[in-house]
Amino acid sequence: MWRSRKSRDRRTVICIACGDSVLRENAREYDKEGDRWNRRDKEFEYLCTDCDDEICHQPRDGLESLILSIESDGLSREEFLDRYADAVADAGESPERSERDR
Ligand SMILES: [Zn+2]
Repeated sequence: MWRSRKSRDRRTVICIACGDSVLRENAREYDKEGDRWNRRDKEFEYLCTDCDDEICHQPRDGLESLILSIESDGLSREEFLDRYADAVADAGESPERSERDR
């Protein structure tokens, strides 16, 4: 791994969205597991600030339970995506999930 003493804190990382190299200190951590406070045994990915601004920062409440509810052993990717699309469409029709009421 490349390392030099005087630039130890000026490591660059690659933005996973656009592929640009960004200084680590300017990059935003992206934790694909969604729990950035639990750092143990984790590898973070990085986004540049531009891409970070563009991603959706809405809370993902309910996504995990929705996925767990449709997931089952032996489900093919296609079957899973079908179920997911159905579940999301159902959720979209339910009034308490309407974005317009915010
Ligand atoms: Zn980027």
